[in-house]
Amino acid sequence: MQIIPRKEHDISRDDISENAVKVLYRLKKAGYEAYLVGGGVRDLLLGMHPKDFDVATNASPEQVNKLFRNSRLIGRRFRLVHVVYGRDVIEVATLRGHHDNAEGKQQSKTSDSGMLLRDNVYGTIDEDAVRRDFTINALYYDIKDFSVRSYEGGIQDLKRKNIRLIGDPETRYREDPVRMLRAVRFAAKLNFKIASNTAAPIKELAPLMSNIPAARLFDEVIKLFLAGYAQNTFKLLEEYKLFEQLFPHTQQCLNENDFYRRMINNALVNSDERIAQGKTLTPAFLYAVFLWPCVLETQKTLEAQGMPAAAAYHQATSQVLSNQQAHTSVPRRFTEVIRHIWDSQRRLERRVKKHLESILTHPKFRAAYDFLLLREQTGEELAGAGKWWTQYQKDNAHLIEQAKSQARERRKPRSSDRRPRRRGPAQ
Ligand code: ATP
Ligand code: MG
Repeated sequence: MQIIPRKEHDISRDDISENAVKVLYRLKKAGYEAYLVGGGVRDLLLGMHPKDFDVATNASPEQVNKLFRNSRLIGRRFRLVHVVYGRDVIEVATLRGHHDNAEGKQQSKTSDSGMLLRDNVYGTIDEDAVRRDFTINALYYDIKDFSVRSYEGGIQDLKRKNIRLIGDPETRYREDPVRMLRAVRFAAKLNFKIASNTAAPIKELAPLMSNIPAARLFDEVIKLFLAGYAQNTFKLLEEYKLFEQLFPHTQQCLNENDFYRRMINNALVNSDERIAQGKTLTPAFLYAVFLWPCVLETQKTLEAQGMPAAAAYHQATSQVLSNQQAHTSVPRRFTEVIRHIWDSQRRLERRVKKHLESILTHPKFRAAYDFLLLREQTGEELAGAGKWWTQYQKDNAHLIEQAKSQARERRKPRSSDRRPRRRGPAQ
């Protein structure tokens, strides 16, 4: 372990979110150890803006929960506390310990493939550090003296731009196969290299991903592709045979037809640009792109079996969405948008006069139109449909404005339909 005193690093409290600082000080004042840990420290040391701030403490989840009125206990596999400040959530984890004592055996659990099913053994900071995934994530900023503690050579790996797992890579991947995705995610985001012993087992162990609940993998897909480094991430995922674990049918289509690869690549370049410009992206658009090859290929197969084109298309969209649920389960609010994007394509291409206005004023018009443009951009021959819709929007800007203001009107809550506040982080 190495201690880097305040004067030798340039993390200042001003760089840390006000709420995270509040949490750290409150814990300290109550007599507990409190550290900023993981991505927050890593990104600040690299001069980047952390996406979120995670806190580690020696207080138990119950003690943390008692200390903050605005907090709730979450998780079973890995118990944590969320301290909630409006939309900002600070995650507070209790320092984890070793599993090999008697108490540890009760509080942790491992499956036959070596996967950690539960990890609620608490311990010291030294023990906690070796349970973290990568050395560059085993960095702790201590609120007591503003020093940074680096374990397992974290700070050196940060300087050498190295993604290196702590401990024996195979064991660590077996404990939690999502770490393979995380290795790729950090390599793409930070433009780091995955160390050779950390990279070596990935291709072979990639199939362990099938043991991860599909809902967790959906969350990981969002983190992988909506952080602004999607193009790089996709390249690495394919290289390490991880993409085929998330989207098996898509991977198969990609191997057979280069058009699909170009389309995905164009979509990811556009997405990264949008994020760089501070715009938002819906996961539905991304899924509509990733699964589009499957829709077209399934449609072809159904048509070859004698089904009429329109019916085949319709059945293909349903089949593809339902098959994907087994791999990364897509929440319903997104599947509806994916469907809308796909279902609109024929109508957008045809430009039937009677339907123009309703197509244009649909709340998800923009996503469907962007999808049309993407197809054209990739080289599909759509008889100028994209350009036509661009012009049509310009000529009918007032209709769009009208529809938007009507939608705002509809969204205004009435006292009669005020629902109880949903629990869980805002999405
Ligand atoms: P970012 O927030 O930028 O995605 P991060 O490193 O902060 O990156 P989080 O998912 O926020 O990632 O997790 C916070 C910290 O918790 C990590 O830095 C790491 O130390 C630890 N951690 C998270 N997931 C795992 C895991 N699967 N195995 C071991 N440690 C993990
Ligand atoms: Mg984080």
